[in-house]
Amino acid sequence: LAKAGGRNCARLFDPSDPQSSDESENIAALLKIAIGQSLVSLVYQPIQNVATGRVEGVEALMRLRMLDGTSVPPSLFIPVAERTGAILELGRWAIRTVCCELLADDHVRVVSVNVSPIQLKTPGFATSVAAILGETGVAGSRLAFEITEGLEMEMHSDILRCISDLKLLGIRIWLDDFGTGFAGLSWLRLIEFDTVKIDRSFLHDCGAPRGRAMLQDIIALIRNRGHKILVEGVETDEQMALMREFGIDKVQGFHVGRPAPAGSFRMKPTFHNSQTTVLKLA
Ligand code: C2E
Ligand code: MG
Ligand code: MG
Ligand code: MG
Repeated sequence: LAKAGGRNCARLFDPSDPQSSDESENIAALLKIAIGQSLVSLVYQPIQNVATGRVEGVEALMRLRMLDGTSVPPSLFIPVAERTGAILELGRWAIRTVCCELLADDHVRVVSVNVSPIQLKTPGFATSVAAILGETGVAGSRLAFEITEGLEMEMHSDILRCISDLKLLGIRIWLDDFGTGFAGLSWLRLIEFDTVKIDRSFLHDCGAPRGRAMLQDIIALIRNRGHKILVEGVETDEQMALMREFGIDKVQGFHVGRPAPAGSFRMKPTFHNSQTTVLKLA
């Protein structure tokens, strides 16, 4: 498996992973046939501008079905895909699918796509993205790539070069899950992110004084660096009110809308002032 994934994947091997477990092997086998058998799909979750109430864009989230129809959560299959190297083909498939099924018409302005550090480390990744943009005629400025602040994100010069190539294509770079790992501050020092997404774990205790102060400190840190701020996982009216009070730029979460298939977004976004949006789905 390490061979299939190349040197970069071997470095990500974690002995505590159930690497040889049946589940992991089954997922690895499934991933090999997933694209050909249409077992993989994308759902899209709305991103709302807090000041205007307008849905500004969506995040693409990958879904995987097993042959019997049951679904495998990304928390299980993404690590396996990264370990086996399947993430490279899945990642290209995701970017192409976003361009074809959502960005082909003008109804959704910007789509953010999660990209793995494995993709960023792989030579030729930016070139393959440029090729997809060329084939589909989609402007790079309509894509944002989300990079997760993970433990494994070593500061590779390959990654920094890849990120600057992607920026030349007009693609915006976002930092995902800020506050969950140890690497976030280093990344903030090195990369000019367009937007930083604060992990939803910071909302859990933001009703209490300590949690609220912590969130305010993180917001100040990101804002002082000149990045836009998106808070993930906003679920309640109280949390939404706090986001307005704190002047957060964008929010995402069940309060705005759950991830849904592309068909539900092929309509004109409308202005609205409350949490009710045409894109909100049950
Ligand atoms: P993420 O990029 O941080 O995505 C946000 C996750 O939080 C999604 O889970 C979403 O469904 C969930 N979520 C959104 N709003 C709420 C909320 O209000 N409350 C709660 N409790 N959850 C909320 P999902 O779809 O299971 O994805 C999990 C992770 O898997 C993603 O985290 C991302 O890191 C990874 N992932 C998903 N799709 C892809 C992909 O295409 N490529 C890569 N490399 N990773 C992906
Ligand atoms: Mg994300
Ligand atoms: Mg992520
Ligand atoms: Mg996130």
